[in-house]
Amino acid sequence: MNLLIMGLPGAGKGTQAEFIVKNYGVNHISTGDMFRAAMKNETEMGKLAKSFIDKGELVPDEVTNGIVKERLAQDDIKASGFLLDGYPRTIDQAHALDTMLEELGIKLDAVVNIVVNPDILVDRLSGRYICRNCGATYHKIFNPTKVEGVCDVCGSHDLYQRADDVPETVKNRLDVNIKESAPIIEHYTELGLVKNIEGEQEISQVTEDIKIALTKNLK
Ligand SMILES: [Zn+2]
Repeated sequence: MNLLIMGLPGAGKGTQAEFIVKNYGVNHISTGDMFRAAMKNETEMGKLAKSFIDKGELVPDEVTNGIVKERLAQDDIKASGFLLDGYPRTIDQAHALDTMLEELGIKLDAVVNIVVNPDILVDRLSGRYICRNCGATYHKIFNPTKVEGVCDVCGSHDLYQRADDVPETVKNRLDVNIKESAPIIEHYTELGLVKNIEGEQEISQVTEDIKIALTKNLK
């Protein structure tokens, strides 16, 4: 089975990707892993990517696409399929992926899209607090302090948020993500590949829904 997984930061993509890989025996390919492997193995695209990174420049899309294509051309992909994670990130990359899959003779089976209301994600992602005195970390939803605003460990009242965890910053990060992913999801919806999964449920229920969606797909 050849799959993509999509979802905004905090939607639980990582956990569900792990399940899919374990349950279906597909190769988990994430952008970071692909880059590291390509550079380590000094593939043509790996060397090219390294030349940009060494200069402190952004790796252009053609090179990123090339690294994905090199990976998808390897034997284990034909044998046991893949779950692509973190790619495509833009609609241009999605079109490039269409072309390379066609060239490689690979058919994409489904796009698992984990859907969570962005407002909930802001709460999930911006709930982290740190004690300035002892460094203990808390989360206002998942791991709150016993007494509001007081560190459980040292009793300090000086709890603060990192700049990255402030709601406004988190919201901006999500907005950028939504803007980039919307046309990609639209593209795959038109191709009839998208399985929208309700991501606001318990983790195990999300997993169950993915299983049902993909089983229908296998028939
Ligand atoms: Zn403390």
